[in-house]
Amino acid sequence: MTAEVPGKDGTKASAATMWPASLWMETARPRPAVARQAGPSGQDSADVVIVGGGYTGLSAAQRFVERGLRPLIVEANGIGWGASGRNGGVVSPKFRLAIPDMARRHGQDVARRMAGLGHEAVDAVKEAVRRDEIDDADLTMTGNLRCAHTRSAFDALKAEARTMREDFGDETSRILDRDEVADETGSADFVGGVLVSHAGLIHPLNYALGLAEGLRGRGVGIWEGAPATSVRQDGAGVVVETPLGAIRARYALLATNGYSDLAPGTAAIRRAVIPFRSAMVATGPLSEELRARLLRHGRSYSETRRMMRWFRPYRDRLIFGGRGAFGKTDSQAAFDALERAMLRVFPDLRGVPITHRWSGLVAMTLDAVPQLGRLDDRISFALGYNGAGIAMASLMGRYAADVTLGDRPDLALLRPKQLKSIPFYSLRGPAVRLVASWYQLLDTAGR
Ligand SMILES: Cc1cc2nc3c(=O)[nH]c(=O)nc-3n(C[C@H](O)[C@H](O)[C@H](O)COP(=O)(O)OP(=O)(O)OC[C@H]3O[C@@H](n4cnc5c(N)ncnc54)[C@H](O)[C@@H]3O)c2cc1C
Repeated sequence: MTAEVPGKDGTKASAATMWPASLWMETARPRPAVARQAGPSGQDSADVVIVGGGYTGLSAAQRFVERGLRPLIVEANGIGWGASGRNGGVVSPKFRLAIPDMARRHGQDVARRMAGLGHEAVDAVKEAVRRDEIDDADLTMTGNLRCAHTRSAFDALKAEARTMREDFGDETSRILDRDEVADETGSADFVGGVLVSHAGLIHPLNYALGLAEGLRGRGVGIWEGAPATSVRQDGAGVVVETPLGAIRARYALLATNGYSDLAPGTAAIRRAVIPFRSAMVATGPLSEELRARLLRHGRSYSETRRMMRWFRPYRDRLIFGGRGAFGKTDSQAAFDALERAMLRVFPDLRGVPITHRWSGLVAMTLDAVPQLGRLDDRISFALGYNGAGIAMASLMGRYAADVTLGDRPDLALLRPKQLKSIPFYSLRGPAVRLVASWYQLLDTAGR
């Protein structure tokens, strides 16, 4: 199980801190020996320092390289230690806010551009895997099946699929009835579903490690075990301090998402998101008979419940994830609840052992879309993927690099904005628990 323990230097995690006991860790490619050194004066230099070694930071670094700059990544723990190495591996063009809802609130043009960005984000993952030859990321574009847990949820899914087709010309969705979903999943728990073809599955940690290896091959410095304890403007540039040394650069980009309060250097952005714990369990190897019946097309699957759950196969196992009454750290009771939920959806798994349990932090925003922008003319940020960041962080990192350099790309609702802090931030803990309990109540009542 994971545990985030106090570390040195006032940080809440340090280089040797615990890594989650995830299936991804067990099946990850070997990590390269960590090479890091500051110059003789204890000070190094780069064109831009990227704080955070997840998909956002890694994708931003790649974009800076393409634009002829020399980036350096500082990561408090190790590449992929955060959500990027722990997630469910569902690569999808979805935002938490549905495109038809965006159209109602912001107009057709904005919604159309957002839908386009969703697909661009999936393409960014495909392109990165191809460029860096990350074969062990096992990217498969088998689609995502959204499974409706009630008739009204199914009606809403169908309406959304129709709107996407008729108003946005999006032909990537297909409606499946109850029997088809039962046949697809091996579960009788759903009343229907919508299959989105432009989506897939990935090994999340190998994807992050593969991106890092590609960057190292292009000469990018990566300091692991290097929490940024201070990030500040200095003269015509910035200085980023870490326990391994200080770095002077022209720009800094903060890419720390749900982990922004690990160390003081990123404190400026931590109030922009509400960290929310998401958890996963993996079964032991399934029998051939179960594999032929459960999730047999090897897609990713998600549910329509407010406290969404998702599931997928990985080799001969089934992985089940969800958000729920998880607090600051893991608890056995919360994992037990997740396992009970899994058995309700897949009663056939009774008796199959759970071999891995882990969790991590996602970053929720109040308006349900990610935030990208600049704190000032030297320091920028990108975060707040609302639990759907494999594709979107891979894209936003690239755009964040462009915005850092002063560009103004057409990003509709993702356009660069001032950092928006969550009001009443100090109440986020109780508020998250309250909202989670309320959602769980509505889900249980089938509303
Ligand atoms: C359990 C779980 C399941 C998920 N499932 C899915 C899914 O199936 N599909 C999907 O699209 N999304 C999923 N997500 C969300 C997705 O993983 C994230 O949106 C995405 O990984 C965010 O990437 P990031 O680079 O912005 O942040 P992270 O990957 O969280 O990286 C932030 C990094 O910053 C580092 N850091 C923090 N502070 C400092 C500092 N001061 N100095 C240096 N380094 C610092 C941390 O150590 C961390 O490694 C899931 C998330 C979780 C936790």
